[in-house]
Amino acid sequence: MSKRDYYEVLGVSENATKDEIKKAYRRLSKKYHPDINKEPGADEKFKEITEAYEVLSDDQKRAQYDQFGHEGPQGFGGGGFGGGDFGGFGGFEDIFSTFFGGGRRDPNAPRQGADLQYNMTLTFEEAVFGKETIIEIPREESCDTCGGSGAKPGTSSDTCHHCHGTGQLNIEQNTPFGRIVNRRVCQYCHGTGKIIKEKCRTCHGEGKVKKRKKISVKIPKGVDDGQQMRVAGQGEPGINGGPPGDLFVVFRVSPHEFFERDGDDIYCEMPITFVQAALGDEIEVPTLYGKVKLKIPAGTQTGTRFRLRDRGVQNVRGYGRGDQHVLVKIVTPTKLSDQQKDLLRQFAEMSGESLDEQHEGFFDKMKRAFKGD
Ligand SMILES: [Zn+2]
Ligand SMILES: [Zn+2]
Repeated sequence: MSKRDYYEVLGVSENATKDEIKKAYRRLSKKYHPDINKEPGADEKFKEITEAYEVLSDDQKRAQYDQFGHEGPQGFGGGGFGGGDFGGFGGFEDIFSTFFGGGRRDPNAPRQGADLQYNMTLTFEEAVFGKETIIEIPREESCDTCGGSGAKPGTSSDTCHHCHGTGQLNIEQNTPFGRIVNRRVCQYCHGTGKIIKEKCRTCHGEGKVKKRKKISVKIPKGVDDGQQMRVAGQGEPGINGGPPGDLFVVFRVSPHEFFERDGDDIYCEMPITFVQAALGDEIEVPTLYGKVKLKIPAGTQTGTRFRLRDRGVQNVRGYGRGDQHVLVKIVTPTKLSDQQKDLLRQFAEMSGESLDEQHEGFFDKMKRAFKGD
């Protein structure tokens, strides 16, 4: 439902004086006050009148309404006026100071340095077994020459006389809503509150230099793709004596040609021959810890899964080890000699009956499964 024009609500012209507005409000509010008027809709009407009066009786609000209508420039028009206290201007200042990056914090207060991120690619085995390595990260360090002050050794910095050391300037602006004071970062000292007379030659007055820092990192056993490790205190140095940030090492783990990993468990597929599956055999399975013998029982079907306990990955938090799951796949021979073919035909003839039996058994089971009994 669209809102009615406030002048229309009060029944006054757009050039109405304050007095005319007040009189109109008094007359209408008496008529529609919910204590007096019990007709349906009187309550709504009274609210509408009050809202219109709150805006039109205040010069600032009226000026804004005249220019922007119900939808104020910040979108707090639609109903926002009725709240009594017109809190928009405080909000304005906040918005502007956010725009200018000028928080109200003290530029000289200690602040923690920024966190850094380092992406590290590991082989499958490195992720499983951990690794100690040295990484080089470019980061800002406090300048040794000036001790971080940015001033040439032997000289000192002055308090910025533009902002008196606050790092911020108040800018007064005329807007349709009156004068607004905005704070912004002082452009003379860039928010530091200090002016350096003679800049340090090493860091050109920045107080910081970019260095490639070597850090020894110990990657624990069992880290996984996408996990990250925090190296405390190895981020950017703190500001004004604040603590340094942290370094986050994010792991990318390369896939393995034979193993797949799901959490702490390892999966692999082992091809076996039809003969091994039928007669049973003992095969060698590679694991992360060397080869392991696995007994294949006679009559093993393709897709059977065997579990090698504790052959998985050491849990990164130390909660034991996962397992290795071995999926056997029966490989059908493709190159057969004539003699082999003959033998298989003989085999088929000999086992014809039993195959049929197996088939019938299988289809009977299927039928039962679909009937649901
Ligand atoms: Zn320096
Ligand atoms: Zn300044």
